[in-house]
Amino acid sequence: MTPGRVLLTQTQIRARVQQLGKSLTRHYRGKRPIFLGVMNGALFFLADLVRAIDLDETEISCVRLASYAGTNSTGKILGLDALDDSIAGRHVLIVDDILDTGRTLSALVARLKKLGAADVKICVLLQKRGKQEVPLHANWIGFKIPNHFVVGYGLDYDGRYRGLKQVRILTD
Ligand code: 5GP
Ligand code: MG
Repeated sequence: MTPGRVLLTQTQIRARVQQLGKSLTRHYRGKRPIFLGVMNGALFFLADLVRAIDLDETEISCVRLASYAGTNSTGKILGLDALDDSIAGRHVLIVDDILDTGRTLSALVARLKKLGAADVKICVLLQKRGKQEVPLHANWIGFKIPNHFVVGYGLDYDGRYRGLKQVRILTD
């Protein structure tokens, strides 16, 4: 398996991240949000997004969740127990690489609400068309993409290809 066709160029990603940053700045002005990155996939997206917003009081936090082995969703979400009630009363923006079946993020949203978050919103770089199994609304979406397994800009295939500057389709 190797990275094939380029789906999103560095220029396209950069431009879209700037737009998202402006929109998030308008939305969170006057609030003190926590940007909660889902590691490792959201690594670059989170870092670029935070630098594209213009808010003085944004906090950054990370949670490490995993559901995938290879290119198959395992259905089991690992890592939610690392979150604690310091999230209570806070406005949380979940930042993730990709919304696929929706299982990971819906489990995360449920956990944050249980811990008493005042507000939970979602920003994803990518959303796969026609793959969602769990009803979940992403408030900000960078790009809607066809149903391919993609790598690059943080997205990996068993740990590989995260550092690619573009988003590319994994091929045989
Ligand atoms: P979900 O729970 O929505 O099915 O899966 C979400 C997680 O699975 C994402 O955060 C990401 O880590 C992983 N994932 C889903 N689709 C892809 C993909 O096309 N490429 C890569 N690299 N990871 C994916
Ligand atoms: Mg992920």
